[in-house]
Amino acid sequence: MKTFREPKKLQKWCRERKAAGRKIALVPTMGYLHEGHISLIEAAKRKGADEIVVSVFVNPVQFGPNEDYAKYPRDEKADLAKCRAAGATAVFFPTPENMYLDRHSVYVVEEDLSKGLCGARRPGHFRGVCTVVAKLFNLAHPDFAVFGQKDYQQAQVIKRMVRDLNFDLDIVVAPIVREKSGLAKSSRNTYLSDAEREMALAISRSLQDPKTVKSVAKQLEKAGLKVDYVECVDAETLEPRRKIEKGTCVLVAAYCGKTRLIDNKVI
Ligand code: AMP
Repeated sequence: MKTFREPKKLQKWCRERKAAGRKIALVPTMGYLHEGHISLIEAAKRKGADEIVVSVFVNPVQFGPNEDYAKYPRDEKADLAKCRAAGATAVFFPTPENMYLDRHSVYVVEEDLSKGLCGARRPGHFRGVCTVVAKLFNLAHPDFAVFGQKDYQQAQVIKRMVRDLNFDLDIVVAPIVREKSGLAKSSRNTYLSDAEREMALAISRSLQDPKTVKSVAKQLEKAGLKVDYVECVDAETLEPRRKIEKGTCVLVAAYCGKTRLIDNKVI
């Protein structure tokens, strides 16, 4: 397994692999890898990738000023071992300095699907996501990239970016990986105390058979969570829908103590 820190070096290697006829998959992550991330690597394998490039980068541009950029968990050694065990062929560990050069001034802004949900609560978040993902696409030349349904809005936004900017690759969306308890795996789960972990179970439970947005919010509040949003939207356009029915997606963001957790269910 190759390890790259320099964007130029990754780009050169990927260009050469591609010229040699190898099919390249990209799996973008912020690291502190768990089974959710590993499932993306496995999906890449199943889809016939010859090279699987995992990027590990806590992207400062997608964090708001009062968010957890500084304390976001990092463990490079463990991530390397997990990537190797899962069958990645290259890992990209850039630094903020070599991803964002002095006076970096070009950003990618998606202006439709990013408006609501997490986009409304985290101004600039999807601008940061789209920008870093566009850069990763230009560096890795992937035939396809794998994202998790866990970040439902993100996957939709990236698909739109690929469509609207004519990126020449496919987007694969892999299902949400959960703990046995139902809690969606997340690097941020590491912030949770035992009591909060218990409390957080209300999120997946509330999405098992959601009747109305109100009833979901009520369940969360009853468990002691602070609701950021519960919304039912069209699964494609992300436009608000009144009724939870086929073709919609119910999305939740809630604070468990200080930790903001998200989850969703496509109906
Ligand atoms: P992150 O490192 O949290 O930015 O996530 C990197 C990628 O892994 C994103 O495409 C996420 O949607 C995906 N991912 C994170 N958690 C899960 C999970 N529990 N199940 C499936 N995919 C996930």
